[in-house]
Amino acid sequence: MFTKILIANRGEIALRIIRACREMGIQTVVVYSTADRDAAYLKLADQAICIGDAPPIDSYLNIPRIVSAAEVADVQAIHPGYGFLAENAHFAEVCRSCKIEFIGPPVEAMSAIGDKVECKRLAKKARVPTVPGSDGAIDDEKAALKLAEQIGYPVIIKAAAGGGGRGMRVAHNDVSLRAGLKAAQAEAENAFKDSTVYIEKYVEQGRHVEVQVLADAHGNAVHLYERDCSLQRRHQKLVEESPSPALSQEVREELCASAVRLIKAAGYQNAGTVEFLVDQNQNFYILEVNARIQVEHPVTEMVTGIDLIKEQIRIAAGEPLSVRQKDIKQVGHAIECRINAEDPQKNFTPQPGTITELRLPGGPGVRVDSHVYAGYRIPPNYDSMIGKLIVHGATRAEAIARMKRALSEFHIAPIRTTIPLHMQIMSNQNFLAGTVDTGFIERVLLAK
Ligand code: ADP
Repeated sequence: MFTKILIANRGEIALRIIRACREMGIQTVVVYSTADRDAAYLKLADQAICIGDAPPIDSYLNIPRIVSAAEVADVQAIHPGYGFLAENAHFAEVCRSCKIEFIGPPVEAMSAIGDKVECKRLAKKARVPTVPGSDGAIDDEKAALKLAEQIGYPVIIKAAAGGGGRGMRVAHNDVSLRAGLKAAQAEAENAFKDSTVYIEKYVEQGRHVEVQVLADAHGNAVHLYERDCSLQRRHQKLVEESPSPALSQEVREELCASAVRLIKAAGYQNAGTVEFLVDQNQNFYILEVNARIQVEHPVTEMVTGIDLIKEQIRIAAGEPLSVRQKDIKQVGHAIECRINAEDPQKNFTPQPGTITELRLPGGPGVRVDSHVYAGYRIPPNYDSMIGKLIVHGATRAEAIARMKRALSEFHIAPIRTTIPLHMQIMSNQNFLAGTVDTGFIERVLLAK
């Protein structure tokens, strides 16, 4: 087992990884930018190394600086968290050539599955349903129009290298397809330096349901059931829960088995998430695979009792999975609300600044994953998520009641957050009935 790990990330996920390492008796080295120099979690690591200025390119995305820090601190492995370099195959390769273990999938599996077009090809091979659409990249308008005619409107244009809901456009007719194609290509080029886009059928009023998987280097692969992440704003998740209130047991089993088939076909190792869209008739189609730990991993930890970060570390160290499929149970119900420093009243504009008052919720079945504290200054340079509130209950009704109670205890001032929106969601009739879809928040809750 490793004795020292470097954490190439920041915020709540850096703290989450420190916590897992401490319980495993592994020393931690955390890197940070000048914007994060006052973060309290730095003191919880065994060593903290400043690697540069606030812009990610100078720090959290700067491969030479991170690798130098790893060499100076003499670590055996790097945990990339999520975002930043987590799905960067070049970074994983640099780690390998420096004989530092990258805590994630092997470079080859990451490259294959990280590209959405290639992922769809693998899915077909593994008999996992894909959304009807282009088999490969679409680059000219003529081909796009022809395909849309074949599969029928609405269609969605997506960036092959996409992530975070960027580079995506829904088109309902030829006119919006022409405009959307150009806009998506430009946005993809801008965000990912790769303008490759593809087109697929837009699944209307679909649900986003994803399956957590784990695979080791010894040929063992298991799933840890699903998470329902249908509550989104601009294709970004806001609330996640497990189990999904919308799946029959039969569909759940098929969905999970499909996910395992795909990761086996891809030669995947470590933790991963296979994302699906589920339509109104419970037909499911694969969206993509996320080759990293996800923000919403705690809901799975709450229902299965398995620590996903520890499993990731064990797998990277070459150990076999600590669990067998038949021992993994989905017990009770868990919900996560993402607490973002954004003002829902002002079109979710980010709210950087100092938190002067903070009272965190607690009590039975409540978990808060957050690095913030009273006096913490939220830097303007990074993602606006400042923490996650996760609850577990025996039933979905208990989990919802618990989430409402915990949200009402949660006090942050003067920074505005998504807490009031979560309160509204937890009392919404459609949410209570479990009938929301990916467009629900914008169509119903935020419609003026
Ligand atoms: P990203 O990598 O940017 O997160 P995904 O492929 O995971 O992109 O899709 C994110 C979200 O976009 C989905 O959860 C869903 O809400 C929406 N979406 C993507 N593809 C489709 C589709 N074919 N039909 C309907 N919605 C879609």
